[in-house]
Amino acid sequence: MLAIFGSMRFNEIPGQHAIRARLLQAVKTNRVSHALMLSGSPGCGHYALALALAQYLQCTSPIGDDSCGVCPACHQAAQFVHPDIHFVFPVARTAKIKDEPSSDDFITEWRQYLTGNPYPSLEGWYHAMGIENKQAGIFKKEAQDILRKLNFKSFQSDYKVIIFWMPEKMNTTAANKLLKIIEEPADHTVFLFVTCGTDEVLPTILSRTQLIKVPKIGAEHLYKKLAEEYPGQEKLMQRVVQRSQGDYLLAREMIDQSDQNTLNRDWFIRWMRISFGLQIKEITDWVSEVSEIGRERQKWFLQYALSMIRNNFMVNQGLADLATLDEEESAFSSKFNAFIHPGNIEGLMEEFDLAIAQVTMNANPKILLTDMSLQIHRLLRLPAPGAKG
Ligand SMILES: [Zn+2]
Repeated sequence: MLAIFGSMRFNEIPGQHAIRARLLQAVKTNRVSHALMLSGSPGCGHYALALALAQYLQCTSPIGDDSCGVCPACHQAAQFVHPDIHFVFPVARTAKIKDEPSSDDFITEWRQYLTGNPYPSLEGWYHAMGIENKQAGIFKKEAQDILRKLNFKSFQSDYKVIIFWMPEKMNTTAANKLLKIIEEPADHTVFLFVTCGTDEVLPTILSRTQLIKVPKIGAEHLYKKLAEEYPGQEKLMQRVVQRSQGDYLLAREMIDQSDQNTLNRDWFIRWMRISFGLQIKEITDWVSEVSEIGRERQKWFLQYALSMIRNNFMVNQGLADLATLDEEESAFSSKFNAFIHPGNIEGLMEEFDLAIAQVTMNANPKILLTDMSLQIHRLLRLPAPGAKG
């Protein structure tokens, strides 16, 4: 059970050594500010740092500059269930929660969301809560909950920690209720605010905290982390690190995107080859694979395929400059473009347009893709006008 949750030790966070040293120094000299404001881009790792600091404060046998990762307190912290670590984050009304919501109403979802992903983003969290089309916030009820929780004695340890994500989403009523306790909390109560934009945090809150600007992750550390997570893809990781501005979330998004693009390309190339050769067994395999992926993803793939057909037609017409093909796509196109010509371009485009419309209208993907494979076979075999048959 515990193994699936992992833990959140400082050593698992890429880079940020200067910030870590600063936080640890404060703990060791017993001068942890009662309200820290960690500010940085969503993927700089500031939430992970807050989790690691909370765990370190609760750990019963820290080792050097890190929590031990194995004591009961560490295990509880790693599962986000330590009784003296409280979580605050933006929430919204849903079909389930009709009254003013607070974090407690969504704590199960929050734990699930954080598991394996200590880099929360507002978009990701909205998706996890299932409220894509609403605005989330931190409301009066939340402030009341916090005051009530801080009224209890801490359960197990000296420290009570409130990890407060996105204070910029807190409304004025809630903030006013919290001003006093943030300014003068009980001993060993620590507010760890984690923000992506101090400009939007209410000045009354901001002025009561010690601001720590968390910089972007150093390229070398980000590369090391990504290379561990995606072994054997060093080239792609180098490109991603260059372009992700030291932001882990941005890097992950770019990798996912790039994976999907690669998949589209591989599917397309395979599909054209086996349809051209009318390799029935391979077509059946390919169709079952692509039938599995879900409607939205199928639509995206078919749109990609349509754009590849268009691009190859342009290459065929001597307009390669206008085609938008990457290196691998161009390599395939160098021979394939001969098969996309004025004699079949209209027929092919009609097939793909129709297929995209049918996927949208819930057509059975197996029947649709099998039929398309046969049509593609027929169309690719049509002679180019003027060519000797
Ligand atoms: Zn421990």
